[in-house]
Amino acid sequence: MVPSVVVSRRAVDRLRAGHPWIYKSDIVSSEAEPGDLVRVTDERRRRLASAFWSSTSQIALRVVASEDVTDETAFLRSRLSAAIAYREALRIGGDACRLVHAEADRIPGLVVDRYGDCLVIQTLCQATDRRKDSITALLVELVSPRGLLARNDPKVRRLEGLDERVEVLYGDVPDEVDARGGKIAYRVDLRHGQKTGLFLDQRENHEAAAALAGGRGLDAFTYNGGFALAMAGSCREVLAIDSSASAIAGTRANAARNQITNIEAREANVFDELRELEVAGERFDTIVLDPPAFAKNRASVERAIAGYKEINFRALRLLSEGGHLITCSCSYNVDEVLFKEVVSSAAADARAVVSLVETRQQGRDHPVLLNVPETHYLKCLILRKLA
Ligand code: SAH
Repeated sequence: MVPSVVVSRRAVDRLRAGHPWIYKSDIVSSEAEPGDLVRVTDERRRRLASAFWSSTSQIALRVVASEDVTDETAFLRSRLSAAIAYREALRIGGDACRLVHAEADRIPGLVVDRYGDCLVIQTLCQATDRRKDSITALLVELVSPRGLLARNDPKVRRLEGLDERVEVLYGDVPDEVDARGGKIAYRVDLRHGQKTGLFLDQRENHEAAAALAGGRGLDAFTYNGGFALAMAGSCREVLAIDSSASAIAGTRANAARNQITNIEAREANVFDELRELEVAGERFDTIVLDPPAFAKNRASVERAIAGYKEINFRALRLLSEGGHLITCSCSYNVDEVLFKEVVSSAAADARAVVSLVETRQQGRDHPVLLNVPETHYLKCLILRKLA
């Protein structure tokens, strides 16, 4: 018997508007256990959808289908196959990409990333966590990886009452794996690297930056060299900055791996370094700004805006005429409209006349659901400074 959860009128309207989440406050009654796949009904017991139930999160229900799901394994297999087939159709170069992006692939609470012959998964809600063994078996059947690691250390799992753990669920996962993002070969630490190892969501933006880069490049917040490595082929030289010693070591190792000799990797705080470069009268023709999420929640938006404004102002001052600024924000709480406003105001203060060459977002392997604004988190503006 599939357990039922009855939801309020407000939840019905939300579902009709195409949003897959129902909040705890809109639950009328529930007979579900943590992580159940349930039938969602209105108060007159009419079926609305099938959803994952969470007993602890504010997001109590995450819709997975409009129909009843009778065979869970068949259902998961078909969702996973569709997600994988979509990535194949994208023909993303290399062998590192996101295969499953949670809500945007209609498997809420599940992330699957591929790095060469290894997979990394994150089961971020009770329902996917409870099913991690069957998900692993299905991925082994569909992708035949050498090993599969569960990188279940994100703090969001706490909202689901889940612990933080990193464990091998299948085969053998080496400490470091080789993976290619486009033309660049990376050595990736799947257990300790940021996210699941790389910022796969930026990979297509690395290539967009490389396509217009030239002259002297600056990659601020480089992590293990993402933008700098991609731009090195079209720039005379690239200065890559990060405040983390291990990130800088990773950038140097990746540069050596790809026989790239025109990147200088410098351990520094970007806020200080941009100011010092400006005082020293330095100039750059291509600048990338890809900071961490300054606004992790709504309360920090104001401070985040000040941070974005400061770095964009400094970068526009350092940018030569005719040069490009590739500026990113991965704060969901600062949306595209607000981000453009902040960058515009930085340009006005820097007395820079700037054209908006392109508005980009997270890579296509991290799809945005049209009716779910929460799935659009990464903004990437490409600007050109005019004479
Ligand atoms: N551009 C990278 C991803 C950057 S993630 C890519 O495309 O792969 C953000 C990085 O900013 C992290 O590596 C973090 O160490 C670094 N960072 C955070 N605050 C910083 C600061 N104030 N100065 C320099 N680096 C910082």
